[in-house]
Amino acid sequence: MINIILMGPPGAGKGTQAKMLIQAFNIPHISTGDMFREAIKAGTPLGVLAQSYIQKGDLVPDEVTIGLVKERLAQKDCANGYLLDGFPRTLPQAEALEKLTEELGAPIGAVINLDADKAELVRRISGRRVCRNCGAPYHVDTLRPLIDGVCDICGGELYQRKDDTVEALETRLHHYYEDTKPLENFYRERKLLINLNGLTPKDELFVQISEIFKKVDQK
Ligand code: ADP
Ligand code: ZN
Repeated sequence: MINIILMGPPGAGKGTQAKMLIQAFNIPHISTGDMFREAIKAGTPLGVLAQSYIQKGDLVPDEVTIGLVKERLAQKDCANGYLLDGFPRTLPQAEALEKLTEELGAPIGAVINLDADKAELVRRISGRRVCRNCGAPYHVDTLRPLIDGVCDICGGELYQRKDDTVEALETRLHHYYEDTKPLENFYRERKLLINLNGLTPKDELFVQISEIFKKVDQK
């Protein structure tokens, strides 16, 4: 069983790796950011609430986010493992997750921490474009689609996320360094933390993470 957390600042490459990994290992991708964006698109009360935080680059309150993940991890498709992307992002979230996985009798097997320097994160995020339909990531300089503005995979429309503007990004990075980076210690103490370089070319990084997945899966 593979229960794995992908951690790291915005732009470190979590989303790109997650999309490759869930295909290769056939486990659900649990991205709180994607779940919030879906709720926003559907106009649900959760979406309305989440949007007010997300567009400024702030974190959605813990009790809301924790509730959402609790519901999701209880679903049947998570019983054989899952990939958490973008959760936990705060200490209360990490503590709630630990309690929850204990209750479910299926602990986290590894925490993969992708990192990159701030200048590179800003460069990646400010040029990022995302498929409105399937969520596939692109970049205006380094990862261009075959046809401008159109997703190679599904033909969907590419757009820039509202929180990928320079102002919102500053706030997101601030939250990352203040709230999320301290979790490295939390997971280091539990001997779960594995640091990888987010600057590694994506196919090579995928091979490195896949090796970790295989080891965790054998446990
Ligand atoms: P990225 O990793 O590129 O910053 P995500 O797609 O993971 O973006 O998240 C986008 C936004 O959704 C975050 O900036 C935050 O507002 C909200 N969000 C996602 N996950 C969480 C979480 N675990 N706790 C609080 N807010 C979250
Ligand atoms: Zn697409």
